Amino acid sequence: AKQLGGNNAQFFTHELRAYSLDRLQLENQLRKALEDDQLVVFYQPKLHLASDRIRSAEALVRWQHPQRGLIMPGEFISIAEESGMIVRLGDSVLRQACAQASQWYQQGPQAVAVSVNLSVQQLRQQGFADDVARILRGCKLPARLLELELTESMLLEHSPTVSSNIEALQELGVTLSVDDFGTGYSSLAYLKRFPISTLKIDRAFVAELDEEHCDDAIIRAIIAMAHSLSLNVVAEGVEHERQLEFLKANGCDEVQGYLISRPIPADEFTALLSSSSDM
Ligand code: C2E
Ligand code: CA
Ligand code: CA
Ligand code: CA
Repeated sequence: AKQLGGNNAQFFTHELRAYSLDRLQLENQLRKALEDDQLVVFYQPKLHLASDRIRSAEALVRWQHPQRGLIMPGEFISIAEESGMIVRLGDSVLRQACAQASQWYQQGPQAVAVSVNLSVQQLRQQGFADDVARILRGCKLPARLLELELTESMLLEHSPTVSSNIEALQELGVTLSVDDFGTGYSSLAYLKRFPISTLKIDRAFVAELDEEHCDDAIIRAIIAMAHSLSLNVVAEGVEHERQLEFLKANGCDEVQGYLISRPIPADEFTALLSSSSDM
């Protein structure tokens, strides 16, 4: 057993070294990726159930790596967070998403509100809301067509800069939503304190709907609570017809997930819009 332990430790340090080398390499490459515009934005439609139409999309970053191909955010967002590059990365995504939303707004086939994920580090920047205002003006996009996705932990940060950015964003007319709702905190006080308009039910709850003796009480409760506070509800991670039917029957406003579409490049999204508006 002793020998085994030794081997394990050796194996561990070896793995760890390989891991941190890889990470360091990725960090340096990510810095370059930002300069060389290797970060691209994919769009995943949200289906508005009452109208059966796509009215909005979530912007999700991908890294078009010259050697490794398309890299998913799970592999590099945490590196960007830890190195501080997330502020520049987020700015790049915001600019691309607003430019795209502006194109759909001005050239069709129809207006689509675009939602962009924020890092708390962006909200901690003094003047972040002013940057957003400048971007909107620069691409002539009405603020109501931009939505920003925040997480519960960001809304619970007791930072005056974060709070004043959030208030200024709302004054601009940008929509704010709470991402991964239900996974983080038990306090819901922030829902009254901040100008939130949408809750996104985390896909872990939606996945539960697939289980044999599923407990659908949580989703029902979230929808009821959201509506009583006049908030919209989006369900994430909808993969099966059965989940869609349940969400429809229980008054969920919008659904997002592989059942509707995976996140796709902007041109494919435009084609999807054209074909669905012909129907
Ligand atoms: P998220 O904000 O919760 O985004 C939803 C994730 O769920 C996306 O993963 C999406 O592709 C995936 N998804 C959508 N529908 C389904 C489904 O039906 N089933 C399953 N299993 N998954 C589904 P993705 O694109 O890999 O992004 C992962 C996370 O990376 C995002 O989670 C978000 O936290 C972060 N992220 C992505 N883009 C950005 C960005 O521009 N800025 C920041 N700060 N974070 C980002
Ligand atoms: Ca999100
Ligand atoms: Ca989410
Ligand atoms: Ca998530």
